[in-house]
Amino acid sequence: MSSLEIRDLVVALTATPDKPIVKGLNLTIKTGEVHAIMGPNGTGKSTLSKAIAGHPDYQITSGDVLLDGKSILEMEPDERARAGLFLAFQYPSEIPGVSIANFLRAAVQARMAEGEELDATGYYKKLYGKMDLLKIDRKFTSRSVNEGFSGGEKKRCEILQMAMLEPKFSLMDETDSGLDIDALKIVAEGVNTMRGGDLGVLLITHYQRLLDYIVPDFVHVMYDGRIVKSGDKSLALELEAKGYDWVKTELAATT
Ligand code: ADP
Ligand code: MG
Ligand code: MG
Repeated sequence: MSSLEIRDLVVALTATPDKPIVKGLNLTIKTGEVHAIMGPNGTGKSTLSKAIAGHPDYQITSGDVLLDGKSILEMEPDERARAGLFLAFQYPSEIPGVSIANFLRAAVQARMAEGEELDATGYYKKLYGKMDLLKIDRKFTSRSVNEGFSGGEKKRCEILQMAMLEPKFSLMDETDSGLDIDALKIVAEGVNTMRGGDLGVLLITHYQRLLDYIVPDFVHVMYDGRIVKSGDKSLALELEAKGYDWVKTELAATT
């Protein structure tokens, strides 16, 4: 079993390092688990995921992120991926002229140990195996990466990348922009197919609706840069019924 541990994490914009956005966040995820972070807009959810991915605009000013007890903070984004983190936003928006099949092959090759080779036969066997698992049409991988893709097709491409890279942990930040119900279902089916066993998922979402399709093992409410409440899937339902104001009121009463 692997673990991803976010410990007292403080994140600011690189341009304004003295103004924290994430303000001391703690969370541990183990492989086999699906965790959802929910919270109102502007609370620092995307900042958290970008900081863990190593986005240059965000600076971790204190705290740590440990993969199996080892800090990832000194690793380049690519090394983080090689260590077993899948960070959806690292992937390009559009690469005209490069087929998904070739793009994924390069991505898989880049994550292999030095000297290891993936021959064409082995690669296509793996690719088609994953596509069958995810019920993706064979024609799909001859298209250029994200070129003219619908929201749903982009998500399908991302889910296939995730399946091919076989990460230990996947961080997915599903913002509400451009996620129609089809895209939502593609993400959910992909995660539900791959979840369990060797994969841990951190699903960050504005979209309570997504949790109708992916039933998380743990739900965390993020507010003002921290996790203020954790529970199981019933917490998501409670939030849906009562809204985030309920959490705010509860917090005000206890602090
Ligand atoms: P969420 O994903 O929960 O909606 P964000 O992490 O996107 O929250 O944003 C948290 C706060 O940090 C907001 O006030 C937002 O305006 C600010 N912020 C995040 N990223 C940037 C950025 N690149 N430039 C300026 N402000 C930012
Ligand atoms: Mg936002
Ligand atoms: Mg966001």
